[in-house]
Amino acid sequence: MSESKPLPAGVMLQRDKETYAARITPPSGVLTADDLEKMAAVVRKYDIPAVKITSGQRIGFYGLTRDNVHEVCGDMPFRTGGHYVQACPGTEWCKFAHTDAMALADMIENRFGFEPVPAKVKFGISACNFSCGESYIRDIGFIGSPKGWTMIVGGNSGRKPRLGDVVAKQLSTDDALEMTRRFLAFYSENAPEKKRTAHFIEKIGIETVKAELGLEPA
Ligand code: SF4
Repeated sequence: MSESKPLPAGVMLQRDKETYAARITPPSGVLTADDLEKMAAVVRKYDIPAVKITSGQRIGFYGLTRDNVHEVCGDMPFRTGGHYVQACPGTEWCKFAHTDAMALADMIENRFGFEPVPAKVKFGISACNFSCGESYIRDIGFIGSPKGWTMIVGGNSGRKPRLGDVVAKQLSTDDALEMTRRFLAFYSENAPEKKRTAHFIEKIGIETVKAELGLEPA
């Protein structure tokens, strides 16, 4: 494999500065028996030394080499790279759910999973106030209620944690997607490169974001 061939999206050099990790993104973290078998076959074929589930409902494959990283990613049943969309089981499975979290997560992933924005964006979708999808500590979060989706932006769980701000309530699923589009467009047009949403919002103020999005105070 040519050293000059760019690495697949989302592949990162590891601590040893020789091997790579690839993380695949099963939508909402849902896996079928076929998916599991395909992944097991890839692990055996390339003798991958470690597989780990990440906090964002992705699956990481560690210890890949420059020679096999493209083949490994090509053989996987899911994409690598892009933004991640974390979701709780929602009305599909959970007795507390008000909304279909996994359906909204699928729509967001399909529409915005590779949206070009200044920095990575993490989504957290929860179908009730228990917020198992960690909606308040993701760049964009949604929480289901009997009247629709509550939208939260600017959360972060990293080095400088920040709870996101509620910017809209009682959104239909279509409105949730439209608000997501508008927020990402505003973020893209106004935030410097590599500035995460939490720091961007702290700098400009959440009221500015709401005003720019044409939202009534939530
Ligand atoms: S957030 Fe609510 S609906 Fe979703 S898994 Fe947790 S308890 Fe269930």
